[in-house]
Amino acid sequence: MNLTKKIKQAKKILIVGHVRPDGDCLGAGLALYRLAQKSGTQAELVYDSDLPFHYSFMQYYDCINKASLSDYDLLIIVDCGDRFRMGKYAEFLGKVHSIQFDHHISNDGFADENYVYPYRSSTCEILSEILLDEDAVDSEMATLLYVGLSTDTGHFMHNNVTSVVFSLAAKLMEKGADAYNVNCALYRSRTWEKTKLIGKAIQSMKFFGDGSICVISVMQSDLTDCGCLLTEGLIDVAMDIGSVKVAVCMAQQPNNKYKVSMRSKGFDVACAAAVFGGGGHVQAAGCVVCGYYEDVLRKVVKSITDGM
Ligand code: 5GP
Ligand code: MN
Repeated sequence: MNLTKKIKQAKKILIVGHVRPDGDCLGAGLALYRLAQKSGTQAELVYDSDLPFHYSFMQYYDCINKASLSDYDLLIIVDCGDRFRMGKYAEFLGKVHSIQFDHHISNDGFADENYVYPYRSSTCEILSEILLDEDAVDSEMATLLYVGLSTDTGHFMHNNVTSVVFSLAAKLMEKGADAYNVNCALYRSRTWEKTKLIGKAIQSMKFFGDGSICVISVMQSDLTDCGCLLTEGLIDVAMDIGSVKVAVCMAQQPNNKYKVSMRSKGFDVACAAAVFGGGGHVQAAGCVVCGYYEDVLRKVVKSITDGM
């Protein structure tokens, strides 16, 4: 495809990732931002969301969401399983030539050029392969891409880890990826506030299906009590329990909404999330559900047990 050439030939690029960006989406967006910068092409990177502060260690993080929103001749979309994941930036589709990189099964190929491979662990895996092939990866890009490989594979623990993933991780390290510092920043930097929130999450655990389903509930008051607004990763505490086959984290949002995350050890949670208009992958999916807590809990658990 010669991505490097396409970026070099563009005059001004808008790079868009999904709302509530994660490590994969940030790593992919920032690596492309860096590539454009190296190529002398103007680029702007946006997510229709506040940014998660715990990723602020990533290079060029401060350049995100500072876009002029005009004069683009290329739109690059990363890690968006459908056009709605782009939030308000979906309005640029159709106005300018678009290329997307993604690994969600739900993706219907909504861009002009689609590099969508659901069997890949991460968007960063796809971009690593393309850009290493084009010999375009410097140490900064290598570190950024490594973040996505690590986070979307659950620190190389999910079943989406393949020999290709390890081989790409090794090649990124050869290019100078700073894996040790990324790992410390990602997995050895928890705040005391977040640690207290994990305590609340454990106390909130409810079990269904003979202990095979564990639901964590996080209310807005828990966030304020603990002084931590980040719910990412809480679900892993439930997944670490041996009997648990499906873990759910229901994080209360303003206006009677719950952001629901689902993880599984084999069962297809993407189908359960799809019941509520969400999506994701077989073993990691999410959705937003409106309603009162008890109703949302009952419906979410039913969506899982119905498919078991
Ligand atoms: P998380 O639970 O970490 O927010 O998301 C897990 C996976 O589910 C991600 O790969 C993400 O793509 C997908 N996902 C999370 N929330 C939503 C949502 O509201 N809509 C869709 N389509 N996918 C989601
Ligand atoms: Mn991803």
